Amino acid sequence: MTDHLETLPRMRRTSTTLADGRELIYFDDSEPYRSGAKNREVIDERPLGARPAAGTMRLDALTGEWASIADHRQDRTFLPPADECPLCPTGGGTMPSEIPAHEYDVVVFENRFPSFATESTAAEPTAAGSVANPMLAHAPALGRCEVVCFTSDHGASFSSLSVARARTVVDVWVDRTRELSALDAVEYVFCFENRGQEIGVTLHHPHGQIYAYPFVPARTASLLRQATEHHQRTGRLLGADLLAAELDAGSRVVVRGTHWTAYVPYAARWPVEVHLVPNRDVPDLVALDDAERDELAEVYLDLLRRLDRYYEGSDGSPIAMPYIAGWHQAPVRQGRDVSRLHLQVMSVLRAPGRLKFLAGSESGVGAWINDVSPEAVAARLREVG
Ligand SMILES: [Zn+2]
Repeated sequence: MTDHLETLPRMRRTSTTLADGRELIYFDDSEPYRSGAKNREVIDERPLGARPAAGTMRLDALTGEWASIADHRQDRTFLPPADECPLCPTGGGTMPSEIPAHEYDVVVFENRFPSFATESTAAEPTAAGSVANPMLAHAPALGRCEVVCFTSDHGASFSSLSVARARTVVDVWVDRTRELSALDAVEYVFCFENRGQEIGVTLHHPHGQIYAYPFVPARTASLLRQATEHHQRTGRLLGADLLAAELDAGSRVVVRGTHWTAYVPYAARWPVEVHLVPNRDVPDLVALDDAERDELAEVYLDLLRRLDRYYEGSDGSPIAMPYIAGWHQAPVRQGRDVSRLHLQVMSVLRAPGRLKFLAGSESGVGAWINDVSPEAVAARLREVG
């Protein structure tokens, strides 16, 4: 009775190498590659130079925070015309793209202009304190930066993907979190998407990114400090107590599923901000079970489609929401027992055609002022469901 395709794995993974040695991985969720009826055998024939080595990161002695100095990124591709898109399949446009195949489902590859890379040309080891003056400490920016192409369709967006494709992307985030966490230098894996020119996107093709950092980033460290303190005081998880409080209040809850809940945070910083959290205590994407991954694909698409209906132009047509979406998960080696996975989606669009700028108070001292009430944002997101 069992259909042949249903007994197959959900997707097939093929790791290949680009002309400069960077890794590219195909995640195929459709035929003929999913079943293995056909194999990926395409070769990147571009004359590329050496793969990029790691740049440098410098320690800001005033804050104790690392800054990556990646000046080679100034030369990266900026809003190319559609027929020169480096994320479309090769063959359709006027030049070979980053993806040598003529078609693909989901593809991940190492960024050609990375802020963090696996190999360093620096003479010194990673010891940040090994410089003559500890006020001017630095280290190689070891780690890895990857690009995730959600679809070969240049004009699509994450919100227009099928549930099956979104589910593949969930599996890809899990795969990449697991593999990148195993790299010696990596302390934190961040899966995120920047969508829309208002956010500073340099390529229109629907894609996300994954940064594997050699340190715990500043905001993550701040979340971890709060969670650790709460756990020491109460013996409970901060994320779980917060979810319970939001459910109790109810006014900011947007979606309540069997496995996931979306709510506008009580002290939202951004004009539009939503958190999507698992109902079960889960430290990272890898720890999600199959039922949670299935529902995540559905709930996340629902949320993104609500965001795309949130604002209307003067003629009543919906305005695609520019957003940043990022997964906060447990660091690789610390605080795993107090961390709780959540997705943060945020937008700078405070009204059609009007952006919130991170100006004096936010950029200068990190004190956020939000002109929009979180309860009103939640009400609107419920209304457009
Ligand atoms: Zn494209």
